[in-house]
Amino acid sequence: MGFIKRTVCPCCKSKEDQKVLLEEYFNSNYFKHWIDHIASKPAGGYRPEVEEILDEKYEITKCGNCGLIYQSIIPDSELLHKAYESWYDQDENLRFNLSLDNRRVKIQRFLTEVYSFIQFYNQPVNRIKVMDFGMGWSEWSIAARSLGLEPIGLEISPSKVKYASSLGFEAQTLEQQEESSVDFINTEQVFEHLDEPFEYLQNLVRLLKPGGVVKLSVPNGSKIEENLKKYDFNSEEGFRKLNPVNPIEHLNCYNTESLVSLGKSCGLRPVELIKYDFQKSRKVFRPLNALKELARSIKHYNIDQFNKLNGPTLIFFQK
Ligand SMILES: [Zn+2]
Repeated sequence: MGFIKRTVCPCCKSKEDQKVLLEEYFNSNYFKHWIDHIASKPAGGYRPEVEEILDEKYEITKCGNCGLIYQSIIPDSELLHKAYESWYDQDENLRFNLSLDNRRVKIQRFLTEVYSFIQFYNQPVNRIKVMDFGMGWSEWSIAARSLGLEPIGLEISPSKVKYASSLGFEAQTLEQQEESSVDFINTEQVFEHLDEPFEYLQNLVRLLKPGGVVKLSVPNGSKIEENLKKYDFNSEEGFRKLNPVNPIEHLNCYNTESLVSLGKSCGLRPVELIKYDFQKSRKVFRPLNALKELARSIKHYNIDQFNKLNGPTLIFFQK
């Protein structure tokens, strides 16, 4: 158990033109505040074992081929598993997530996405098979179920599997899935965490039916190169601005271009869904406003416009 070096780009596999943007040891001043912070008041129950990382190097690399920015020295799979299961106090993390008002906002956003996909795919819900890859605390699955779908959840964290089961979702594994069997795969804040994003996406594409859609939603890393020059992890502001390359957790940092490149390298093409916005259509019950509100709430889902906002970088890809 320890750290390993990624010597090729984890998305496009290029060996050429891999440029190191930043090298820092975890015991340097660059991380002083980060180390103190995580040791003293863990957010959402996250408390890395500092002694396991102190002598390690934090290295940020940019791929000249696809534009991905990534941590080139990462925990091996054993340490990654430990980081997600025991560096988090899972009970505290669940309480933290359930208490956040953004859980409600998240579920509303997912309702919008699921409904938009149903419209796009134009099939009765009982014929649509959807999968929630890395289901976390089940927010997307809750939205999918409430619109009549029966999501298959994939999750490796035993705590999250147990919670999903308490809501009536049975978690499965990748190995249990059949090729070309799924219409829609949700991945919400998953691909930034993966040691081998290209291989994972290839596996998901295999499960998709021809014409099926996979959603990749990751933290917005479009400003990270300039932020790495301006900030370090020594302040709250640095913490926030550098979140897309958060040590140990956010191993891959995407902008729209590098995310599109990843999708294309797996044979996918970006598609736009018509967005039905539940949040903006809340006034729909007022008869006079109904048509106006409905017209306003249905609009083209524009990737560039959406991603320029501070939200996640989000792209739907079709097989
Ligand atoms: Zn690359």
